[in-house]
Amino acid sequence: MIDTSNSPHVKLKSIGIGECQWTEGFWAEKFRQCEQVMVPYMGGLLKGDIGHGYNNFKIAAGLQEGKHQGFAWHDGDFFKWMEACVYVHAVSQDHSIVSELDEIIRVIAAAQEDDGYLHTNIQIDGIAHFSNRKYHEMYNCGHLYTTACVHHRVTGKTNFLEIAIKNADLLYKLFQPQPKELCRFGFNQSQIMGLTELYRTTRDKRYLELAEIFINNRGTSAVVEAPSTEGYPIGDMVQERVPLREETEAVGHAVLAMYYYAGAADVYAETGEQALIDALDRLWNNVANQKMYVTGAVGQAHFGASTRRDKIEEGFLDAYLMPNATAYNETCANIANAMFNFRLLGIKGESKYADIMELVAYNSALVGISADGKHYFYANPLRYNNGQREYQDNRDCTESANREPYIECFCCPPNLVRTIAKLSGWAYSLTNNGVAVNLYGGNRLSTKLADGSTIELRQESGYPWDGEIRITVDACKSDPFEIWMRIPDWAANATLRVNGSDADVATPPGQFAILERAWKAGDTVELSLPMDATLMKGHPLIDETRNQTAIKVGPLVYCLESPDLPEGVRTLDVYIPSDIRFEKQNNPDVLSGVTTLTGNVQIKSDDRTNMYRPLTSPEWKSMPVRFVPYYAWSNRGTAEMTVWLPIVWK
Ligand SMILES: [Zn+2]
Repeated sequence: MIDTSNSPHVKLKSIGIGECQWTEGFWAEKFRQCEQVMVPYMGGLLKGDIGHGYNNFKIAAGLQEGKHQGFAWHDGDFFKWMEACVYVHAVSQDHSIVSELDEIIRVIAAAQEDDGYLHTNIQIDGIAHFSNRKYHEMYNCGHLYTTACVHHRVTGKTNFLEIAIKNADLLYKLFQPQPKELCRFGFNQSQIMGLTELYRTTRDKRYLELAEIFINNRGTSAVVEAPSTEGYPIGDMVQERVPLREETEAVGHAVLAMYYYAGAADVYAETGEQALIDALDRLWNNVANQKMYVTGAVGQAHFGASTRRDKIEEGFLDAYLMPNATAYNETCANIANAMFNFRLLGIKGESKYADIMELVAYNSALVGISADGKHYFYANPLRYNNGQREYQDNRDCTESANREPYIECFCCPPNLVRTIAKLSGWAYSLTNNGVAVNLYGGNRLSTKLADGSTIELRQESGYPWDGEIRITVDACKSDPFEIWMRIPDWAANATLRVNGSDADVATPPGQFAILERAWKAGDTVELSLPMDATLMKGHPLIDETRNQTAIKVGPLVYCLESPDLPEGVRTLDVYIPSDIRFEKQNNPDVLSGVTTLTGNVQIKSDDRTNMYRPLTSPEWKSMPVRFVPYYAWSNRGTAEMTVWLPIVWK
């Protein structure tokens, strides 16, 4: 939840935290679960001995004996959980959350060194400060700043913000002079987002200056091994082969890349530098049109190489190279894709960015957590075949057949939980003279328009299970203003009515339909979106989807999972007839309540012997099978799953 209310180069400004709250339906249920299960359960992990995140701060503060546990970026992940707590408090007004955070902040303050330095791994293990970028000092700083700003906005308190400022002042002192030995520093650069947010919160220009320095330095040094780079691949892996303003391709670690681009978008929002937004436009295009999965996921491979032959991990491969079973798609990368798009939505005011935010939210983000809210996926492939890959289902493993109750590399779970906790803040934006509706679902909005006038809206909808959306104006100014309604890119023939009559505006898919009039309390806007199951195809250059189809209903991607197949039939045996008709069923008892699709598929068994064999004429069997939303897979024991299925043309 960035505060762009004073950002000069933002067209659609963010609303305040807590100003929109889910009231009913899909996201209201997820938020409730987030409040009641996800955040407390994760707090139990992180404050206890399994997660050990809080222990690390206590040990660094000298309040407890022990060793640092967890990865070097564990502090940052602990801050993300704190951020989720703040969002929950913004809605629930539960003051015990603030009291608990106060106690934690006291411990963090005690762990912080006199010069502002804070990084429990390095402090406890006695490692030299800023000696190797693999320790993720910048990542931890970035999440510290973001969380401290959000905490200040919601609670008005300065106790956490002061820690962030003290730390950022240290960074400024060290990095602003741009000493040569530090100019390649920063591995996962969430500090660029964090510093810009700290500038927005304090209006201290040094933080924006420093955020720009981190962008300017990247890609200007020789790509050679050095003591500060040891431990991870160099070059494209960390986006240091080419300066950002000259880059044409999204490369390297996908989380690093997307956080970097999101940070650069934050800087552009304040500076308006043309070269920066031109580069971000190119990179957005490259990701959205050449490297993104149908689920909105990014980062095709666990290990691989960039097109410029740098070794990469957890990152991007070539354009259109979209493996399904081995897709990595780290939950954090998918969320970072949504974060980048949320920033571009603000900057450009174009709904195509909100389309991707929504796609990620319902699919490649939400798949990262189980129906019970207590198990996590880190990698999110689009297909899982039994026996194809050897997964070790243990805490160290980021690729697993089932969601895990704890993952040693704990970046994704708190990232997802904070995203679910704050998603209502992405549902609306403020236009120059009105409000844009970005996300649909039952909610209530109470905010102020750009001119300071009060607006209150009520949205009622069963979206995405049905496509009827009704917005009622509960309070507004008497002068005319606009309500922008997002017409999703998949929504052909959407209809809009105002007070029951045809709104008489165009509803082009992939754009906002703008309703401008003198509104009054009681006015209604009704949007009707087509929610039929649609068979999707991939670009012909995607080898891995040729002659296959994926099923979408509105923003939801569906999948076929083995618990929905008869004994002995594998997902690999299932073919979709091109004339398949689906029956939709609302199933409150299935997978915490989902709409399933049932259709007649064709089954062809395979003896699965030699790698290559002469083609023989198949014996087809036809049978009805059920499809479930992709995000809900793997909640019924170890299962096979596929998003893409081969087509039989009828
Ligand atoms: Zn992650």
